[in-house]
Amino acid sequence: MKIGIIADVHANLEAFQAVLNAFDKHGVDSIVHLGDIAGYNANPNECIDLMRARGIESVLGNHDAAACGLEDPWFFRSAAKKAVEWTSERLTEENRCYLCSLPEELLFNCRCLGVHGSPTSRDDYIIDWLDAMRQLEYLNGREVSICFFGHSHKPALFSEKGALHRLEVSQSHTLEQANRYFINPGAVGQPRDKDWRACYGILDVDALRIDFYRVEYDIDTACRKVLEGGLPEDNAKRLRRGK
Ligand code: ZN
Repeated sequence: MKIGIIADVHANLEAFQAVLNAFDKHGVDSIVHLGDIAGYNANPNECIDLMRARGIESVLGNHDAAACGLEDPWFFRSAAKKAVEWTSERLTEENRCYLCSLPEELLFNCRCLGVHGSPTSRDDYIIDWLDAMRQLEYLNGREVSICFFGHSHKPALFSEKGALHRLEVSQSHTLEQANRYFINPGAVGQPRDKDWRACYGILDVDALRIDFYRVEYDIDTACRKVLEGGLPEDNAKRLRRGK
């Protein structure tokens, strides 16, 4: 069985569609999203509609929470805050309710936990190995061996035993039964590791392996929609910079 793992779609429909096409080619059995469907880019409703139509389970991200009114975005940076306001003015009532209904975490495939920022907060960043290890205690007693997270927009894999890994493109990692992991598949809609291509991961449950991939998408269209929609210009520039 293969599970597609994605995070931070951020209303980038072109990137999302490219990743879904890739998943179809890989033949994944299900897809899990680690939060932030909305924010930054121009197609929040279309991305939510697609997520629901494809039966993709998602957790609540910080941008989702702000866009649907569950969280005050007072600490968001200016371009992110403007995009949240832009989004909340345009969300259909049905999609606003959908975002409000998303859970803080998902348990799937027995020993996998999906969260947005960290097991303790959707606003926490797990950037390095130490950040990940500080979160281990929140997995104790939960029979969770892999915690999938997003929010930093950078692919990463940190293991309890063994050193830190920063991932290169298309790396494959065999996982050990007796180890615990924090894994970020990278961002679909706004990667921040200086590579503009959309990120995704595939967990092969039988082989106990995680594979990381990148896929090109129609970035010109995504950027044009940001600018034509009246979203901050910096949001389009970030897509091209990949950071
Ligand atoms: Zn995000």
